[in-house]
Amino acid sequence: MLLPTMLKSLLFLLFPLLLIPQESIARSNFVQKLGFSKKDKTKFGELKSGQGLFQALQSVSIDSALALKLINSLRDDVEFSKLKVGDKLEATFNDEGELVRFAFSQNPAEKHIVKLNKMTGNWNYSFQEEKTFWHTRVLEGQLRAGSTLQQDLLEEGLKPSVVNEVVNVLLLKVNFRLNARVGDNFKVLVSERRFNKSVIESKVLYTAYAGKRAGSHEAFYYEDAEKSSTFTAHYTKDGQALISSGLRYPLSHLHIRSGFGWRLHPVTGQRAMHRGVDLRGKTGTAVHAVADGRVIEANFNEFAGNKVAIRHRDGSKSYYYHLARRSVKKGDWVNSYQIIGTVGATGRVTGPHLHFGFKTPEGAWMNPLNKRMIATPKLTGLRLKSLKDQIADIRGLMIDLEISKVARYLLQEIPNKKDEFSLDWEFTDFYKVGESKINTNIAQSMEI
Ligand SMILES: [Zn+2]
Repeated sequence: MLLPTMLKSLLFLLFPLLLIPQESIARSNFVQKLGFSKKDKTKFGELKSGQGLFQALQSVSIDSALALKLINSLRDDVEFSKLKVGDKLEATFNDEGELVRFAFSQNPAEKHIVKLNKMTGNWNYSFQEEKTFWHTRVLEGQLRAGSTLQQDLLEEGLKPSVVNEVVNVLLLKVNFRLNARVGDNFKVLVSERRFNKSVIESKVLYTAYAGKRAGSHEAFYYEDAEKSSTFTAHYTKDGQALISSGLRYPLSHLHIRSGFGWRLHPVTGQRAMHRGVDLRGKTGTAVHAVADGRVIEANFNEFAGNKVAIRHRDGSKSYYYHLARRSVKKGDWVNSYQIIGTVGATGRVTGPHLHFGFKTPEGAWMNPLNKRMIATPKLTGLRLKSLKDQIADIRGLMIDLEISKVARYLLQEIPNKKDEFSLDWEFTDFYKVGESKINTNIAQSMEI
């Protein structure tokens, strides 16, 4: 009994010592890479519960004026709406105590870096990414007595957010409360981006549910060609969006620069209520009406710049600020998704973006992101064609995974006949099993 206790306390004592060499190795690599002087010091921190990035920056000794500057230089590249506890910060100071580099990472494979250019005094942004692998797996099973789909998927090691995504997609087609039965079949294809041993991103490529009462349903993940496109979502094989009807997005891309609620104003630096969300957009990008309605304001003021407001059928109102151009006038009737202007930088802003606000029928400002928003009720044209191609890929991938399951079984049997076959032969044979499917089979763990 004594020995393990001693061992434990020894480890406990050694623990801080074990950390020091690692940190100094990381530091010396980093000093070499960036050519900083040896006197530069890096402080490490992380986002704590209830903290915004601003408070976290102060915890690594960055003053509030500089913190505001850094947040503004990161706004277009980091989605502040996705900040989470444990996100990592690094602040490097020179021997005069001035900040020369700041790094922020939301997962171990990616780093957003801003460095001071001493000549210009500007902060330059760069993005550093480690190699990661996409790995795909199928989860399938039958609903058991006393269990739910949620529980079964959680037991398979899926993150709660991924399980929610699956369930939300199926909820639009299946009334679980009434129609789910023991023995119903489900199948989920998940692609996981891995770095070292952690999953840093998951995509639900395919969701299926079949039962006597519930019927058969399939949903496919469509990924739009453009990054952060609002069209990227789950659809039926005919291109029907699997999200109940809601507002259309005002932009075809969604990157939130600044969320709803209390924040430090990027221009004044004062704590203020932000009654909307700021969406990234280049000057000239089309701005769409989020629903049918009557234009109740189309004018200019020094804060909102070029501004359009629309009253919808249910009495709710949507607001669009800082437009470069307005293409509707007061009194016009607009259809859902009609273009009402373009993104700009008019009014009191630091750069081009769309400020999008929403009022309830009762007249209270609300976070528009809490409304259900859809890109489209149905994919059409090139997007629909691309969905069909992606569906074919997803089905192919599932066939490959079936084959590799069989092949893995074959490989397990082979070692017994070791003297008869060389290792090379085993693998050639394994690939023969898959024939033309082999390429996608390998693609499961393809680098990105
Ligand atoms: Zn705003």
